[in-house]
Amino acid sequence: MTKQYDFLYRDLVNQFPDFEIHQNHSLAPYTTLRIGGPADIFIHTKNTFQFKSILKYLYKLNQINNFSDRSERGPALAGEPEGSEDRKNSLIGQIPITILGNGSNVLISDSGLRGIVIKNSAQKIQILGDETQLKSHFQRSYTQRHEDEPEKYLDFAKIDYDESDSPVVKVKVAAGTPLPYAINYLLDQGITGLQWFAYIPGTVGGATWYNIHGGAYHFSDYIHSIRCFNLQTGKIEKYRKNELNWKYEKSYFQQNPHLVILETTLKLFLGDAPRAKATRDAWIAQKVKVQPMNSPGSAFANPSLEDCIRVWGEQKSTGFIIDHELNLKGTQIGGAQISLQHANFFINTGSATAKDYLALINLVKSQTKEKFGLDLEPEVKFLGDFS
Ligand SMILES: Cc1cc2nc3c(=O)[nH]c(=O)nc-3n(C[C@H](O)[C@H](O)[C@H](O)COP(=O)(O)OP(=O)(O)OC[C@H]3O[C@@H](n4cnc5c(N)ncnc54)[C@H](O)[C@@H]3O)c2cc1C
Repeated sequence: MTKQYDFLYRDLVNQFPDFEIHQNHSLAPYTTLRIGGPADIFIHTKNTFQFKSILKYLYKLNQINNFSDRSERGPALAGEPEGSEDRKNSLIGQIPITILGNGSNVLISDSGLRGIVIKNSAQKIQILGDETQLKSHFQRSYTQRHEDEPEKYLDFAKIDYDESDSPVVKVKVAAGTPLPYAINYLLDQGITGLQWFAYIPGTVGGATWYNIHGGAYHFSDYIHSIRCFNLQTGKIEKYRKNELNWKYEKSYFQQNPHLVILETTLKLFLGDAPRAKATRDAWIAQKVKVQPMNSPGSAFANPSLEDCIRVWGEQKSTGFIIDHELNLKGTQIGGAQISLQHANFFINTGSATAKDYLALINLVKSQTKEKFGLDLEPEVKFLGDFS
């Protein structure tokens, strides 16, 4: 730890005596993968007041330190050109700042993260009221969904249904609220819509940042607006869903790391709650069999339909390719393993390092390139220095 962070730590503890702040603190426990070295400074914010207070403090600090480009990079992956946009990390200003939700989509390097890591657990759900006039505004974007062996994996078609003719209700959710909690709480209040995202272990902030997909739905299908803290201006800004460009696993926030999501307002339904609960339960029952929690979710995105047609003449999922085309299911490097439950989930068997995990990613990536000329895109976000 440099002297700069030593000073910063002492100042933070002085200014925020009631906050949970640590120095040189291991990040592994804050990820589903349980991998990652220490943060120079780790702050665990427990409510939106704490989250905003720290962000304001950091804004002022970075005003003093000048704004500059992010300098840390993710790993160069097998076959990847240098300087790929996706490898950028959340480094803002001269003091690097990284926001963590539930750490369910990240691989943190063994050397950890420099600067400040904020784990945001600010949790709050406010039901804003019925907006029946919004009834017809729901637009389902339909994610591409493909499983080659539905008998083994997930049969979404059997549980999918349309509830867009139900009355709409707006709900404001703080970014650190765990998605599973929000789903259950809202269903108990008779509010439906989020059941498609059952078993996704992220926070609402992470779900917004990533534009998660569940079944055939994107999270953005349900977003009305988002409030952010702008680390460049120190101001709170509101973005309406339609002002932003949303795509499969892509949101505006990924290209704008100076915008920290404080809360997301959702447009949900006063729908058929018993049916939605049954859907949630069916979805969980299927996923629990094939999606191990000691992972960061899917290792790779599925290849495009065009690429699959070119290589095989039909669509194939990444799990199927790793399992049946590469025969790599169960392969282990150090403590990282291609799961026996689902070949597109790479797990930590207990002692995996980030280096092990990356080696497994690179093995699959290079074999897919060599054998089929395909570039698989990792879904996990790399945080820290992998050089
Ligand atoms: C078993 C399992 C199943 C999964 N299933 C799915 C699935 O079906 N569909 C799917 O899409 N994903 C899935 N995932 C991946 C993951 O759960 C989601 O991407 C989730 O939304 C990540 O949220 P998080 O809070 O854990 O984010 P983190 O992993 O903590 O962070 C991810 C990124 O979001 C940024 N971020 C987090 N909060 C904020 C904020 N408040 N402001 C700005 N940036 C922020 C972080 O800086 C980081 O870059 C799965 C993961 C697991 C382990």
